[in-house]
Amino acid sequence: MGALLYILFACVGAVVGSFLNVLVFRIPEGKSIVLPSSHCPKCGHAVRVYDNIPIISYLILRGKCRDCHEKISMQYPFVEALTALMSLLLFLKFGLSLKFLSSFIFTCALIVIAFIDFRHQIIPDVISLPGIPVFFGLAVIFMNLTVWESLLGILIGGGCLFAVAFVYEIITKREGMGGGDIKLLAMLGAFLGWKSLFFVLFASSLLGAVVGVAVMVIKGQDMKYAVPFGPFLSIAAVAYLFVGADVMKFLFFYY
Ligand SMILES: [Zn+2]
Repeated sequence: MGALLYILFACVGAVVGSFLNVLVFRIPEGKSIVLPSSHCPKCGHAVRVYDNIPIISYLILRGKCRDCHEKISMQYPFVEALTALMSLLLFLKFGLSLKFLSSFIFTCALIVIAFIDFRHQIIPDVISLPGIPVFFGLAVIFMNLTVWESLLGILIGGGCLFAVAFVYEIITKREGMGGGDIKLLAMLGAFLGWKSLFFVLFASSLLGAVVGVAVMVIKGQDMKYAVPFGPFLSIAAVAYLFVGADVMKFLFFYY
């Protein structure tokens, strides 16, 4: 019974991931997310129903369009597998509950944001701005956060990153963090509460620095190469869902 449930949650996650792919590709282009149905960007052929099975279709087609053999982006199976994994892990963490549902919606929003930021270096306002009140509501109603924890999360999240960006700009005379990161951090603060922001900012900066240095070494680019920050903020926020409370207990002896 347990194993069947795990498979079910992973499958639902993969199907949702397939929809997240559509969002990642269509939101930056301002296209409808419902119509037209999926089609090959090169030859325009509609994707057949039986070629639309998450992950499996990509493997059967060996990553190529059935009609014109154009390569299909690796992002499709990757996001589907990632969403399946997150669905499964969140189910293991929260069980079948509204906490699971809230956290899964939050994680899905972050997957879309992270991939759009990675591809286009923008964080779409269409997700982060409505995300602030939506995740405030979910956090207070389902995640046992107090109104103040969430509200302070929004204010400090929006405010402290704004301050960091402001100081960074004065010192380096270069725009570092975009306004999109600030709205995203306000959204994260809304769902995770203000106490999470220490962890989220520290972990994402550390991760960003490691990856940034690695990119500089491998690609030989200098510091001007802007690594988008949204994916690191997203990874840190999802990590906080799983280990945040324990880390905070360890660091500050409270909670
Ligand atoms: Zn094609």
